[in-house]
Amino acid sequence: MKPQDTDVVIVGAGPVGLMCAYLGNLCGLSTIVVDKSAGPLEVGRADALNARTLQLLEIGGLFDELYPLGKPCNTSSVWAEGKFVSRQSSWWDDLPGCFHKHFLMLGQSYVEKLLDQKLRAKGPIVRRSTMVEDVRVSPEGCETTLAGGEKIRSKYVIGADGSRSLVREKFKVPFQIVRPELVWAVIDGIVETDFPKVPEIIAFQADTADVAWIPREGEIDRFYVRMDTKEFALEDALAKINRAMRPHTLRFKGITWFSQFSVKESVAEKFFVHDRVFLAGDAAHIHSVNGGQGLNTGLADAFNLMWKLNQVINHGKNPELLQSYEDERQPVARSVVETSGELVRSTKYSETGTQALDYVNIVQKRAGNITGMGIRYGKEGPVGQRVPDFKVQVGASETRLYSILDYASYTLLVFSEADTGLQLPPFIKKLHLGPGQQRSAAPGLLHHEAVLVRPDGYIEETGTLELIRLKIAQM
Ligand SMILES: Cc1cc2nc3c(=O)[nH]c(=O)nc-3n(C[C@H](O)[C@H](O)[C@H](O)COP(=O)(O)OP(=O)(O)OC[C@H]3O[C@@H](n4cnc5c(N)ncnc54)[C@H](O)[C@@H]3O)c2cc1C
Repeated sequence: MKPQDTDVVIVGAGPVGLMCAYLGNLCGLSTIVVDKSAGPLEVGRADALNARTLQLLEIGGLFDELYPLGKPCNTSSVWAEGKFVSRQSSWWDDLPGCFHKHFLMLGQSYVEKLLDQKLRAKGPIVRRSTMVEDVRVSPEGCETTLAGGEKIRSKYVIGADGSRSLVREKFKVPFQIVRPELVWAVIDGIVETDFPKVPEIIAFQADTADVAWIPREGEIDRFYVRMDTKEFALEDALAKINRAMRPHTLRFKGITWFSQFSVKESVAEKFFVHDRVFLAGDAAHIHSVNGGQGLNTGLADAFNLMWKLNQVINHGKNPELLQSYEDERQPVARSVVETSGELVRSTKYSETGTQALDYVNIVQKRAGNITGMGIRYGKEGPVGQRVPDFKVQVGASETRLYSILDYASYTLLVFSEADTGLQLPPFIKKLHLGPGQQRSAAPGLLHHEAVLVRPDGYIEETGTLELIRLKIAQM
């Protein structure tokens, strides 16, 4: 059989692989996603989309469909011995340049199903119930071998094949795993309780902080229970919940998902190998779920990568650009592992015996990671910083910047009076806002005549129109 040809083969149709394919499709790239599973996730796993992910989803045109399905949540409280101790939300309330200052509590399955459905509408992009057995690279490109021997040729391959990534293994990318011996139960279901329930994240202080209550979409609630052993039954986890909540009691009327996970931490030594193969999502980084960063970090990988492939494949940009995927995302992954690692350890170990309060204080200290809004590329200054969202007047209608950013192109915001006939390549869209609208933008953008925004919503360059013209000429 003659091998099929495509721009990008994506191994794994988890949320990250599906998002890579969806964004690639927005940019006009041809992609094939291969997954051994029969369909998208039905229940369980990640439970929250952070504020930066919500902005990215808006750029990708997915926000309007996902947002109404979830439950906004931006408060965390601490309870001990049945008494309210404290409630915090300052790290959300203080976020500048953002209109959705909260987590959207929404299960991973909703994200996967929407992406899967959108891709199916475009054609046979996702190939299910098919194992990838081998990936090879030659000077001509990549060759992916499926179970049964079929081969697909492509310019690039993305290993979005999860924590036990075959792609990572095939290319011998070191992935040293730290196991801090912390084991958690996760229970999703509908609860019945005399506890004064509000839709917020609750850390309970008992002997330690081994129980956390997470609101979810619809009627569902989630409990994380630290068990410290792999040998436990559902009843043991329920007993711990009731210990933490006493004198209140709780029972599950129905359970939709019950699982356990042992915390493992690692960041792949390379995210880009042989100039052709990328690792993204759990294939590139794994860590504890504390802080809800697994899914969010993986989706941000996809947003960082696909526009770069678009620039190289469709617009003839120098392939050196692709190395910036690793240069930008690997430090983020390391900081995420650090944050979630500090959080998960604090549930058990505390010098003052105040684990739940310690936990919330770490969330506050590391809010940049947890909200996603503190992620930036490069050092100080506006370049590499996320562009703030702000109200924008387009003709007679008012909208927000993120609702008009387009993932398939850069956006040039022009704040000067005159729109001095800049010659722009087809991959840059211009938005002439004028000086009046500059004042509604975040203070960081004042005093700049123009701002060039990357397709993933980070600032490429700011300054005078002349400076931007020079920058564009080098692109
Ligand atoms: C028990 C559990 C609870 C979690 N809870 C949370 C949480 O509360 N919050 C949070 O943010 N994150 C959580 N996570 C993490 C989150 O689910 C992951 O970060 C996220 O799924 C990563 O997405 P991914 O697409 O990179 O990988 P995955 O979702 O693992 O997808 C990888 C895909 O690759 C496919 N695949 C693998 N190898 C092959 C092959 N050789 N051929 C074909 N297909 C292949 C698999 O079938 C799978 O569909 C949890 C994870 C687990 C396991």
